[in-house]
Amino acid sequence: MSVTQVSKSNAPARKGRLIVISGPSGVGKGTVVAAVMNNLKDLELSVSATTRTRRNHEVDEVDYHFLNRELFEAEIRLGSFYEYAEYNKNLYGTLRKTVENRLLCGIDLILEIDIQGARSVKRLDPTAVLIYMQPPSMQELERRLRDRKTETEETIQERLRIASEEMAAVSEVYDRHYLITNNHVDSCAVDLEAIIRAERSRLFTNRPNSPAAG
Ligand code: 5GP
Repeated sequence: MSVTQVSKSNAPARKGRLIVISGPSGVGKGTVVAAVMNNLKDLELSVSATTRTRRNHEVDEVDYHFLNRELFEAEIRLGSFYEYAEYNKNLYGTLRKTVENRLLCGIDLILEIDIQGARSVKRLDPTAVLIYMQPPSMQELERRLRDRKTETEETIQERLRIASEEMAAVSEVYDRHYLITNNHVDSCAVDLEAIIRAERSRLFTNRPNSPAAG
Protein backbone atom coordinates (compact mmCIF):
# COMPACT_ATOMS: atom_id res chain seq x y z
CA MET A 1 0.00 0.00 0.00
CA SER A 2 1.43 3.42 -0.87
CA VAL A 3 1.47 6.29 1.62
CA THR A 4 -1.27 8.12 -0.26
CA GLN A 5 -3.74 5.24 -0.51
CA VAL A 6 -6.62 5.08 1.90
CA SER A 7 -6.65 2.04 4.14
CA LYS A 8 -9.73 -0.21 3.96
CA SER A 9 -9.67 -0.76 7.73
CA ASN A 10 -10.38 1.93 10.31
CA ALA A 11 -6.65 2.48 10.87
CA PRO A 12 -5.21 5.62 9.27
CA ALA A 13 -3.33 5.12 5.97
CA ARG A 14 -0.20 6.55 7.51
CA LYS A 15 1.29 5.96 10.93
CA GLY A 16 2.52 9.00 12.78
CA ARG A 17 6.22 9.70 13.21
CA LEU A 18 8.21 10.65 16.27
CA ILE A 19 9.83 14.08 15.97
CA VAL A 20 12.44 14.47 18.66
CA ILE A 21 13.48 18.03 19.45
CA SER A 22 16.40 18.56 21.78
CA GLY A 23 18.55 21.49 22.66
CA PRO A 24 19.92 23.20 25.73
CA SER A 25 17.57 24.36 28.41
CA GLY A 26 16.72 28.00 27.61
CA VAL A 27 17.31 27.81 23.85
CA GLY A 28 13.62 28.44 23.15
CA LYS A 29 12.36 25.02 22.01
CA GLY A 30 8.91 25.55 23.52
CA THR A 31 8.30 28.88 21.78
CA VAL A 32 9.41 27.62 18.38
CA VAL A 33 7.42 24.39 18.69
CA ALA A 34 4.29 26.33 19.67
CA ALA A 35 4.66 28.53 16.56
CA VAL A 36 4.93 25.49 14.29
CA MET A 37 2.03 23.68 15.90
CA ASN A 38 -0.24 26.56 14.90
CA ASN A 39 0.56 25.91 11.24
CA LEU A 40 0.50 22.13 10.91
CA LYS A 41 -2.30 19.71 11.58
CA ASP A 42 -1.93 16.12 12.82
CA LEU A 43 0.92 17.26 15.03
CA GLU A 44 0.91 17.04 18.83
CA LEU A 45 3.34 17.64 21.66
CA SER A 46 3.87 14.80 24.11
CA VAL A 47 3.49 15.69 27.80
CA SER A 48 6.34 14.08 29.76
CA ALA A 49 6.43 13.02 33.39
CA THR A 50 9.03 14.54 35.69
CA THR A 51 10.13 14.61 39.31
CA ARG A 52 11.26 18.25 38.94
CA THR A 53 9.50 20.84 41.07
CA ARG A 54 6.75 22.67 39.20
CA ARG A 55 7.62 26.25 38.20
CA ASN A 56 5.07 28.95 39.04
CA HIS A 57 3.66 29.33 35.54
CA GLU A 58 3.49 25.57 34.88
CA VAL A 59 0.28 23.54 34.99
CA ASP A 60 0.21 19.89 36.06
CA GLU A 61 -0.89 17.55 33.23
CA VAL A 62 -0.39 20.36 30.67
CA ASP A 63 3.32 21.16 30.91
CA TYR A 64 4.34 17.95 32.65
CA HIS A 65 2.84 15.17 34.72
CA PHE A 66 4.55 16.10 37.99
CA LEU A 67 5.31 12.96 40.00
CA ASN A 68 7.31 12.35 43.14
CA ARG A 69 10.38 10.16 42.79
CA GLU A 70 8.77 7.14 44.42
CA LEU A 71 5.85 7.18 41.99
CA PHE A 72 8.13 7.80 39.01
CA GLU A 73 10.31 4.83 39.96
CA ALA A 74 7.21 2.65 40.38
CA GLU A 75 6.14 3.64 36.84
CA ILE A 76 9.62 2.71 35.56
CA ARG A 77 9.19 -0.76 37.08
CA LEU A 78 5.75 -1.06 35.45
CA GLY A 79 7.31 -0.31 32.05
CA SER A 80 5.21 2.84 31.62
CA PHE A 81 7.99 4.84 29.94
CA TYR A 82 8.97 4.70 26.29
CA GLU A 83 12.22 6.35 27.38
CA TYR A 84 13.38 8.15 30.51
CA ALA A 85 16.53 9.87 31.69
CA GLU A 86 18.00 11.67 34.66
CA TYR A 87 18.74 15.35 33.98
CA ASN A 88 20.20 17.64 36.63
CA LYS A 89 19.20 15.23 39.44
CA ASN A 90 15.59 14.91 38.26
CA LEU A 91 13.89 12.15 36.30
CA TYR A 92 12.05 12.89 33.04
CA GLY A 93 10.18 10.35 30.93
CA THR A 94 8.00 9.94 27.85
CA LEU A 95 4.88 7.89 28.45
CA ARG A 96 4.70 4.73 26.34
CA LYS A 97 0.91 4.89 26.05
CA THR A 98 1.06 8.41 24.53
CA VAL A 99 3.59 7.33 21.91
CA GLU A 100 1.72 4.16 20.95
CA ASN A 101 -1.70 5.77 20.85
CA ARG A 102 -0.81 8.93 18.90
CA LEU A 103 1.32 7.18 16.25
CA LEU A 104 -1.41 4.61 15.67
CA CYS A 105 -3.88 7.47 15.14
CA GLY A 106 -1.65 8.94 12.42
CA ILE A 107 -0.51 11.86 14.56
CA ASP A 108 3.11 13.04 14.38
CA LEU A 109 4.26 13.36 17.97
CA ILE A 110 6.84 15.90 19.08
CA LEU A 111 9.05 14.80 21.97
CA GLU A 112 10.83 17.75 23.55
CA ILE A 113 13.47 15.74 25.39
CA ASP A 114 17.15 15.83 26.25
CA ILE A 115 19.96 14.30 24.22
CA GLN A 116 20.02 11.07 26.29
CA GLY A 117 16.35 10.64 25.38
CA ALA A 118 17.16 11.39 21.72
CA ARG A 119 19.79 8.61 21.78
CA SER A 120 17.24 6.13 23.19
CA VAL A 121 14.55 7.05 20.65
CA LYS A 122 17.02 6.74 17.78
CA ARG A 123 17.73 3.17 18.91
CA LEU A 124 14.07 2.28 19.54
CA ASP A 125 12.62 3.76 16.35
CA PRO A 126 14.82 4.10 13.26
CA THR A 127 12.13 6.18 11.54
CA ALA A 128 12.21 8.90 14.23
CA VAL A 129 13.34 12.35 13.08
CA LEU A 130 15.95 13.93 15.35
CA ILE A 131 16.40 17.69 15.49
CA TYR A 132 18.88 19.56 17.67
CA MET A 133 18.19 23.25 18.28
CA GLN A 134 21.35 25.17 19.14
CA PRO A 135 21.65 28.75 20.42
CA PRO A 136 23.57 31.31 18.33
CA SER A 137 26.25 31.28 21.07
CA MET A 138 26.81 30.21 24.68
CA GLN A 139 26.69 33.88 25.75
CA GLU A 140 23.24 34.24 24.21
CA LEU A 141 22.08 31.02 25.89
CA GLU A 142 23.23 32.34 29.26
CA ARG A 143 21.39 35.60 28.62
CA ARG A 144 18.16 33.73 27.75
CA LEU A 145 18.44 31.50 30.84
CA ARG A 146 18.89 34.54 33.07
CA ASP A 147 15.98 36.36 31.39
CA ARG A 148 13.61 33.52 32.33
CA LYS A 149 14.15 34.36 35.99
CA THR A 150 13.07 30.82 36.94
CA GLU A 151 16.47 29.39 37.92
CA THR A 152 18.88 29.90 40.77
CA GLU A 153 22.50 30.81 39.98
CA GLU A 154 23.51 27.23 40.77
CA THR A 155 20.94 25.76 38.35
CA ILE A 156 21.95 28.23 35.63
CA GLN A 157 25.59 27.16 35.95
CA GLU A 158 24.59 23.49 35.94
CA ARG A 159 22.39 23.94 32.85
CA LEU A 160 25.20 25.77 31.01
CA ARG A 161 27.59 22.95 31.87
CA ILE A 162 25.11 20.33 30.59
CA ALA A 163 24.60 22.43 27.42
CA SER A 164 28.34 22.40 26.63
CA GLU A 165 28.49 18.64 27.16
CA GLU A 166 25.43 18.08 24.97
CA MET A 167 26.73 20.28 22.19
CA ALA A 168 29.98 18.30 22.10
CA ALA A 169 27.96 15.13 21.39
CA VAL A 170 25.75 16.65 18.66
CA SER A 171 27.77 15.56 15.61
CA GLU A 172 27.70 11.93 16.77
CA VAL A 173 24.03 11.67 17.83
CA TYR A 174 22.52 13.81 15.04
CA ASP A 175 24.57 12.48 12.14
CA ARG A 176 22.20 12.44 9.10
CA HIS A 177 19.53 14.16 11.14
CA TYR A 178 19.02 17.91 11.66
CA LEU A 179 20.75 20.84 13.35
CA ILE A 180 18.94 24.19 13.46
CA THR A 181 19.93 27.47 15.11
CA ASN A 182 17.49 29.57 17.08
CA ASN A 183 18.61 33.09 16.15
CA HIS A 184 15.04 34.35 15.98
CA VAL A 185 11.83 32.50 16.78
CA ASP A 186 10.22 33.22 13.40
CA SER A 187 13.09 32.03 11.21
CA CYS A 188 13.73 29.00 13.40
CA ALA A 189 10.04 28.08 13.22
CA VAL A 190 10.22 28.28 9.40
CA ASP A 191 13.17 25.85 9.45
CA LEU A 192 11.43 23.44 11.80
CA GLU A 193 8.21 23.49 9.81
CA ALA A 194 10.13 22.85 6.57
CA ILE A 195 11.81 19.80 8.12
CA ILE A 196 8.52 18.34 9.32
CA ARG A 197 6.83 18.97 5.97
CA ALA A 198 9.71 17.33 4.10
CA GLU A 199 9.83 14.36 6.48
CA ARG A 200 6.13 13.78 5.91
CA SER A 201 6.97 12.99 2.29
CA ARG A 202 9.80 10.61 3.09
CA LEU A 203 9.09 7.13 1.80
CA PHE A 204 9.87 4.05 3.85
CA THR A 205 9.22 0.91 1.87
CA ASN A 206 10.16 -2.32 3.60
CA ARG A 207 11.20 -1.25 7.02
CA PRO A 208 9.28 -2.68 9.97
CA ASN A 209 7.75 -0.04 12.21
CA SER A 210 7.74 2.49 9.37
CA PRO A 211 5.02 5.07 8.71
CA ALA A 212 4.43 3.72 5.21
CA ALA A 213 4.22 0.09 6.36
CA GLY A 214 0.60 0.76 7.41
P1 5GP B 1 13.15 21.50 32.06
O1 5GP B 1 13.45 21.18 33.50
O2 5GP B 1 13.89 22.74 31.59
O3 5GP B 1 11.68 21.52 31.75
O4 5GP B 1 13.76 20.28 31.21
C1 5GP B 1 15.07 19.87 31.38
C2 5GP B 1 15.47 18.96 30.24
O5 5GP B 1 14.72 17.74 30.30
C3 5GP B 1 15.22 19.57 28.86
O6 5GP B 1 16.34 19.31 28.04
C4 5GP B 1 14.01 18.80 28.38
O7 5GP B 1 13.97 18.73 26.96
C5 5GP B 1 14.26 17.43 28.99
N1 5GP B 1 13.08 16.58 29.05
C6 5GP B 1 11.78 16.95 29.24
N2 5GP B 1 10.98 15.88 29.18
C7 5GP B 1 11.76 14.81 28.94
C8 5GP B 1 11.51 13.41 28.76
O8 5GP B 1 10.38 12.92 28.79
N3 5GP B 1 12.58 12.60 28.53
C9 5GP B 1 13.85 13.09 28.48
N4 5GP B 1 14.84 12.22 28.23
N5 5GP B 1 14.14 14.40 28.64
C10 5GP B 1 13.10 15.25 28.87
